[in-house]
Amino acid sequence: MNTLITIVMFLFGSVIGSFLNVVILRYRTGRSVGGRSACFSCDKKLSWYELVPIASFATQRGKCTGCQARISWQYPIVEAITGILFVLLYARFAYLLPTMPLLFGILFAYYAFIASVLVVLSAYDMRHKILPDGLTMLFAGAAFVGMFFLKGDALILHVPGIWDLCAGILLPAPFALIWLISKGKWMGLGDAKLMIGIGFLLGMSGGITAVLLSFWIGAAFSIMLLILGGFVKRGGVFSMKMAIPFGPFLALSTLLAVIWQLDLGFIAQMFGGSF
Ligand SMILES: [Zn+2]
Repeated sequence: MNTLITIVMFLFGSVIGSFLNVVILRYRTGRSVGGRSACFSCDKKLSWYELVPIASFATQRGKCTGCQARISWQYPIVEAITGILFVLLYARFAYLLPTMPLLFGILFAYYAFIASVLVVLSAYDMRHKILPDGLTMLFAGAAFVGMFFLKGDALILHVPGIWDLCAGILLPAPFALIWLISKGKWMGLGDAKLMIGIGFLLGMSGGITAVLLSFWIGAAFSIMLLILGGFVKRGGVFSMKMAIPFGPFLALSTLLAVIWQLDLGFIAQMFGGSF
């Protein structure tokens, strides 16, 4: 892949990520997304060079230039992750660029939007331990509409197959049931609502794959935290009781499934067999 395009896509993604940070912070606070960004502690308006993604955090060493208040790591992390996602999505659809640039543009814009919603959802879940309906339904709506227009990587207006339509209902159903039985202790209803969009976006095979993958990644991450927790126990940084939000793992595996076109064949491969 062309190095220059990679850099440009990363910068483009990080600028969008910088906007997503504003959305994450202001969503459901009643503040509009417009208007100049300011420091939360001293209200100092940020100048243009303090708004440059990632670089500004690095040069200011994570502090406000006005009052020295610490700036959240959320900023550079969201910017970097969005940048990486844009590069990966570019790579995923780049093969269309020489012959069908318009189709490339539409697919890239569609999945970049999906990825952006999932980034906001994940960050919001980490901050507030909740997946707001507005975001899970925006994701589900975008995925639902996409079903009628997208057939693989082709743009064809069509009625989706019965399994694709059902995936958005069948995929979350068992988890909604778990939520009901455990009275919300084992799983949040927000996670089940997120799976509506995952089902519509990926279909049955891809949807099941993404959910299984999210459990594996979540388990691996939890084990890692436990091991780390053993090392820094005295510091009390990690604890077994720490509730790890599940939304980010679902979002991550969904995007991995989009980028690498994972379906149940991938799961079978992991177990050394094939369907
Ligand atoms: Zn300040």
